[in-house]
Amino acid sequence: MQPAHYIGGAFLPPESEASEASDGGFPLVDPADGSVVGRVPEASRATVDAAVRAARRALQGPWGATAAPERAAALRMIADGIERRFEAFVAAESADTGKSRELAATVDVPRAIGNFRSYADLLSAQAERAYLTEVPGWSGGGGQALNYTVRRPLGVVAVVAPWNLPLLLLTWKVAPALAAGNAVVAKPSEETPSTATLLADVIDEVGLPDGAFNVVHGHGPGAAGEFLTAHPDVDAIAFTGESATGAAIMRAAADHVTPVSFELGGKNPAVVFADADLDEAVAGTVRSAFTHSGQICLCTERVYVERPVFEAFVAALGARARELSDYGPLISARHRDKVLSSFRLAVEEGATVVAGGGTPVFGDARDRGFYAEPTVLTGLPPTARAVREEVFGPVCHVAPFDTEDEAVRLANDSPYGLAATVWTRDLSRAHRVAPRIEAGIVWVNCWNLRDLRTPFGGRKASGIGREGGEHSLDFFSEPTNVCVRI
Ligand code: NAD
Repeated sequence: MQPAHYIGGAFLPPESEASEASDGGFPLVDPADGSVVGRVPEASRATVDAAVRAARRALQGPWGATAAPERAAALRMIADGIERRFEAFVAAESADTGKSRELAATVDVPRAIGNFRSYADLLSAQAERAYLTEVPGWSGGGGQALNYTVRRPLGVVAVVAPWNLPLLLLTWKVAPALAAGNAVVAKPSEETPSTATLLADVIDEVGLPDGAFNVVHGHGPGAAGEFLTAHPDVDAIAFTGESATGAAIMRAAADHVTPVSFELGGKNPAVVFADADLDEAVAGTVRSAFTHSGQICLCTERVYVERPVFEAFVAALGARARELSDYGPLISARHRDKVLSSFRLAVEEGATVVAGGGTPVFGDARDRGFYAEPTVLTGLPPTARAVREEVFGPVCHVAPFDTEDEAVRLANDSPYGLAATVWTRDLSRAHRVAPRIEAGIVWVNCWNLRDLRTPFGGRKASGIGREGGEHSLDFFSEPTNVCVRI
């Protein structure tokens, strides 16, 4: 299915864009071999405006009148619809991102289904306990009163998503936004438009009221992303992407005081204590640094290892990195060039390259794709740009530490605060260290083990707010307290 805008319950034919103030679209490139595999429409300001108006109409129509149990049923039907077309979603996600079909089939698509089901379950659970067992009969202002609080949807919600986990991250926001009763205008990344289009097709089949869910495609700055996030009739913005983009969106949102929920960049630390199971710590760091070629916001880019095991850890991690052979490409030629230039910068700053550091040669069609080698670096000071700036590629820098306090200080010495991993067999140490790390998520002896009900998000430049379970429903709804004098 070719990427298309989906507005007010209908897919727009590609020609309709050409007549608007738009360049009519741009090529979709397969990152595995650089070939052009399709065309993506570029939404003009008028197209984005039409999507926002369609969403507003949906709220004034049947969608705005749905009760929570109906929305829970709709979310379950969307999950079932994705499941029925599982293979099509896997193929589209793998083609757009270059990630293996296995990764898409075990992570991206199942999690998208899980996102819809978990919010359906949450709505049902909330509905079951939504009755008053006791009447609170006293109000602090004097006199008797009954107070109760109702939560209402925010209205039209803009969802702007990145390219690394396109369907997973889009549905991570779309599911709770719909669960709370909002109408959504989603803009997937220009690099990965396909699964958002398939999702629109599933939602169309399910028969969600027209305009409850809309998709517009296109670029970010000065284009569809900016038209959407600066739109005066958008009531909230849920965004995942780079911290600099978050700052730009925040500036655009400031004009209308539009609330934002941001999941942004990271430079995630792993702390390996000498008492850790070293094999597990190495295997875990191979996963946390190199899964999806490091293009997951939770990936480890800084590793701090207690000095007695530093040499052994670096040797083992370097050997494992050199053995990796079936990794996927980076998303685009531009991103591959950025990653390779970060490798060069690290060397200029004095890094020792323990593994990788360049472009692999496969001797097949992949040599026209956008690959970078799994790379392990050592020898840089904490002030080096390569240690401070997010690369978002298959690379980590490993440095030694001597004390627990030093490990915490190094882990926190970053403008970012998304995720961290602590490897130790000392339970007390784990509980002591984890809360001292300035990160939204700290994993102990594991990485990316997720329970969808827990708060997910970042501190410092890594984000604003938390998503997951009730946390997302809190963002996507507004409480109104009703006080009745009795
Ligand atoms: P990006 O910020 O370049 O783009 C993300 C989305 O924003 C795209 O849809 C893009 O078109 C749009 N956009 C860009 N500029 C815009 C603007 N001025 N106004 C409105 N929209 C705009 O990010 P990316 O390169 O797609 O993704 C990689 C980044 O995302 C990394 O920094 C990574 O750490 C981060 N990320 C964070 C999380 C998290 O949960 N914290 C998850 C995944 C990715």
